[in-house]
Amino acid sequence: MGANRHMSVDSRGRYTPEVDGAAVSGSEGPAGSRTHNTIPARRGSLMQEPVLVLNATYEPINVTAVRRAMVLMLKGVAQAEEMHNAEVHSAAHAHKVPSVIRLLAYRHIPQQSRALSRKNILLRDRNTCQFCVRVFPSSELTLDHVVPRSRGGRSSWENLVACCYRCNNSKGDRTPEEAGLKLARRPRPFTLHTSRQLMRLIGHRDERWRKYLFY
Ligand SMILES: [Zn+2]
Repeated sequence: MGANRHMSVDSRGRYTPEVDGAAVSGSEGPAGSRTHNTIPARRGSLMQEPVLVLNATYEPINVTAVRRAMVLMLKGVAQAEEMHNAEVHSAAHAHKVPSVIRLLAYRHIPQQSRALSRKNILLRDRNTCQFCVRVFPSSELTLDHVVPRSRGGRSSWENLVACCYRCNNSKGDRTPEEAGLKLARRPRPFTLHTSRQLMRLIGHRDERWRKYLFY
């Protein structure tokens, strides 16, 4: 069960497609089969622990799962910078598990590398309705076109915001000004700055992440 669960962190809104796409395409290359032999699949929870990914320059660029991080290490794409306290055990060996890894070759991160998706818009807006500024579970949020589609508003980072159903209904097919609503903040593309804030949120409990994230 849960054969693809190890990809949850990455595939959840394609955290950084360029890292996944370029470095780990297919993810089950020659090294992948080796991983399967050495790491028992039932070590599910530890293998899904978040691992901070640093660029070759030590710049934090991504969060992935332990399993993925270990594949990157086996492929010689990344090396461990910090280790977890926990280990995974195979028949013959205990394997130390990384908490922070660093790519060995510098990877250029495009300014706007995120896939435009509902999930990523909600992430960017921290599940906060951008009109009433209240936090909702994802299921109670929709995406609002700030400038309605009927007025030529596009589906873009700059024109889509998280919105609760109530605000969405009261706004209807109008602009915020016409509806007497005010945006909490101007919607922006998902930049590295945004993702760094998210990494801080995910990693604020892990001491080993701190020196890379808090400066
Ligand atoms: Zn609202």
